[in-house]
Amino acid sequence: MTIASFDHLGLVEPLRRALRDAKYETPTPIQAQSIPHLLLGRDLLGCAQTGTGKTAAFALPMLQLISEAKLPLRRNAPRALILAPTRELANQIGESFRTYGRHMRVSHTVAFGGVSIVHQIRAMSRGVDILIATPGRLLDLMNQRHVFLDKLEIFVLDEADRMLDMGFIPDVKRIIAALPQKRQTLFFSATMPETVTGLANSLLRNPMAVTVSPVSSTAEKVEQKVLFVERDNKETLLLSLMKDVKISRALIFTRTKHKANRVAEKLNKNNILAEAIHGNKSQGARMLALKNFSAGRARVLVATDIASRGIDIKGVTHVINFEMPMEPEAYVHRIGRTARAGAAGIAISLCDGEERSILRAIERIIKVSIPVDVEHPFHAAHLANGPAGRSGGGPRRFNNQGGRPFRPARPQGNRSYASR
Ligand code: AMP
Repeated sequence: MTIASFDHLGLVEPLRRALRDAKYETPTPIQAQSIPHLLLGRDLLGCAQTGTGKTAAFALPMLQLISEAKLPLRRNAPRALILAPTRELANQIGESFRTYGRHMRVSHTVAFGGVSIVHQIRAMSRGVDILIATPGRLLDLMNQRHVFLDKLEIFVLDEADRMLDMGFIPDVKRIIAALPQKRQTLFFSATMPETVTGLANSLLRNPMAVTVSPVSSTAEKVEQKVLFVERDNKETLLLSLMKDVKISRALIFTRTKHKANRVAEKLNKNNILAEAIHGNKSQGARMLALKNFSAGRARVLVATDIASRGIDIKGVTHVINFEMPMEPEAYVHRIGRTARAGAAGIAISLCDGEERSILRAIERIIKVSIPVDVEHPFHAAHLANGPAGRSGGGPRRFNNQGGRPFRPARPQGNRSYASR
């Protein structure tokens, strides 16, 4: 079990205060590993996806470096650029800068396609420190001479593999050609296909490399199954699952703090010792819960995704998704908590009618069709077979063989929600 704190990463007080406001207590692994190096100006190659805390890993040091230099704003010439493949991601990154930079005087703006360019032009002519943009719109702004990148100090390329999938690499290369040689570069990608590695090599200088939970290796080691069940039957199903003595150390995930408490209470009432951790608990209470779980005094730890970040517990035999995660990427992180250090692990997901679409999104990410367990007493066949259920042939029986390769629907250069 490792818990570090934000106090030892070299971050200045206004940032630490913003982190306290946001109720972040422990850095995620990518934050702990990257922030000190980024503050020293090093390049970074980050193999990480959304859900790992990668945004704060780059946003915090960027805010600090930009604010420390105390340079006046320049019109049309941002000091830092973050390139993101979709407007959703660009917006999300913008939100993060707002959250983390709230006690600092560093400005940022977000520019993406599909909306009027006028506002973005105005923002650029007033001058911003940090520009977050999708490639197409940035090129438009550059071509119209509203953005100049020759003075750029920090360049971040986020989700490079998705840029590739969406056909943006030529645009990205055009943008890169406009960057100065002397700069700090941060490169993030969830996967590293050859084209992406080639691009990274051409951009980075002596980078620090950080890899967190690569999707495929984590997902491959874990035996996964999904149990379709009506929401109202989930608690009873969980109790019935817990009769299996092989579940000796289970990490159960819920979406909300309230649900985490409720599930833990239900288990305790049924003599299954459970602890809950979530953001409303004090650091002391969380430490105690973790200690009880790690030492085997509690058989179950119920956690929310956020509360479970940055903790590493050995010997988890089962991860149970009582509720599917909000973000498909979080699934990979959850199940990665079992099957650590080469040990076998089992991940069981309870999926109700509303969660089927997220299940499909998860399967696309992990490129595996998660086997369906139809043998349990609360199997909701209509959910497994329904319109958003398995297409072609209904549910597959759980066969202990792990997932079958699944051919994902590739994002077909879906420009409708991308830039331009
Ligand atoms: P990201 O991977 O950057 O998209 O972050 C995923 C989510 O985790 C976001 O909602 C962040 O607000 C949250 N988050 C990031 N770092 C931490 C942390 N150290 N503690 C708690 N929450 C975090």
